Amino acid sequence: MPASNAKSRKDELVGPLGESVPELRKRALLTLRRLKRAYPDATIPLNYSSPLELMVATILSAQCTDARVNEVTATLFTKYRSAEDWASADIKTLEREVHPTGFFRNKAKAIKESTRDVIEKFGGEVPRTLEELTSLRGLGRKSANVLITHAFGGQGIIVDTHFRRITRRLGLTAQMDPVKIEHELMEIIPRNRQADFSLYINWHGRVTCFARKPDCAGCPARKGCPACESAGEITWDVKK
Ligand code: SF4
Repeated sequence: MPASNAKSRKDELVGPLGESVPELRKRALLTLRRLKRAYPDATIPLNYSSPLELMVATILSAQCTDARVNEVTATLFTKYRSAEDWASADIKTLEREVHPTGFFRNKAKAIKESTRDVIEKFGGEVPRTLEELTSLRGLGRKSANVLITHAFGGQGIIVDTHFRRITRRLGLTAQMDPVKIEHELMEIIPRNRQADFSLYINWHGRVTCFARKPDCAGCPARKGCPACESAGEITWDVKK
């Protein structure tokens, strides 16, 4: 088939409401503008002062509140300063120290293994690319994208629990799988807006579009949200 007749993936992607990629992009960017206006102080809620600290904080944040992670890391970051410090930590001691964040055995192991990989594969410096970051044991795509966008000023789609819930409510994707959501949103959101889009959608989930009872009446993105209950007519039921 000649290249001009070949359908690209972009042409094939249609949103759950039957919108084309350009239509989805227009709506998503309009939502982003509204969220940026509404939340001028939006920021990543984890405390850190280096890529290494953010890597550890991200590992600890799985299934745990950011406030609890910040409490735990406030002490930990004064004790463990380099990748070598973390990698050589006594596993039982580290398990005890990260215990308040839950899943303490897995998290202590992931911290030791990922920092060991940082030393052995990357000379003690946290790497900067998605491929390199996801080659570290204990680090998934979400954590890798958090590091790329927040520690290194790059671009990426960060699919956490808020992002999945809200992009589905907004009718930007019907996927459940985080990797599929990431790939669909990468096609919809221009590369240079992906970090911003991830940050503001995440923040929106923390302060307005709650999992159990979203504050649709006070939502800056309700105009154009197909799941908005206060609009009187719900055009998109994500539970279907
Ligand atoms: S209108 Fe409601 S469901 Fe839609 S984004 Fe806002 S809070 Fe969430």
